[in-house]
Amino acid sequence: MQLSDSHAHVYSEQFKPDRDDMLLRAFEAGVRTIFMPNIDHTSIDAMLEVEANYPTQCFAQMGLHPCHVTRQFEKELYEVETWLNRRPFAAVGECGIDLYWDKTHLAEQQEALRIQVGLAKKHNLPLVLHTREAFREAADIITAAQDGSLRGVFHCFSGTRAEAEEVIHLGFKLGIGGVATFKNGGLDKVLPGLDLEHLLLETDCPYLAPVPHRGKRNEPAYLPLVARRVAEILGKDVEEVAEATTRNTLALFGEAPTR
Ligand SMILES: [Zn+2]
Repeated sequence: MQLSDSHAHVYSEQFKPDRDDMLLRAFEAGVRTIFMPNIDHTSIDAMLEVEANYPTQCFAQMGLHPCHVTRQFEKELYEVETWLNRRPFAAVGECGIDLYWDKTHLAEQQEALRIQVGLAKKHNLPLVLHTREAFREAADIITAAQDGSLRGVFHCFSGTRAEAEEVIHLGFKLGIGGVATFKNGGLDKVLPGLDLEHLLLETDCPYLAPVPHRGKRNEPAYLPLVARRVAEILGKDVEEVAEATTRNTLALFGEAPTR
């Protein structure tokens, strides 16, 4: 089985003790490519170091995570823009709106997302969107900006069937991760009947480990657990799910985006 992890923070501090072993486990599990979304200015060096060490497997993306949008977000976005002008990245992200922890900076989050949508257009890059308790707010911004040129993924999708259809209608993909394996994750009611062409697989590691590792540190080697569960929900062969989602991920982010 060949897989692509479309969303993995493998540069995280949490992997410091065993990063090389962790990545080896991923490659041995069939996860051949790993796409790394950025968080903010503090995560860039570590992310680019992993990419430099694994130039044919791990690919960096550039953006500002909504949970790290504060009143000073313009300084952060200046850094994002500088990097995007400096070298190629696989996507703009992760960006979006997150109202789960804190609603204080909604206006700033909306503005930061609009600016990053503009950067995606300017650099002709896909968007990696993070939305939590804020699907409507984020989808409204994408809808307003969609002129046919925007593409990307709603990562860690865990919304309703209607929201999934809205994402597809917007020309975006659904990023499916460990939530698919959770008993009350709800994706067993959302995914049946959806065409595989709309789906990407992801771990979002070190977060959201799939069952039976739920609650522990997640890593890309667990991606086959997500693939198997998605195949089960769709009533398809796991090989077919792996092949299609890998193809979708590489088509969206580029086979070797940094070269
Ligand atoms: Zn993430």
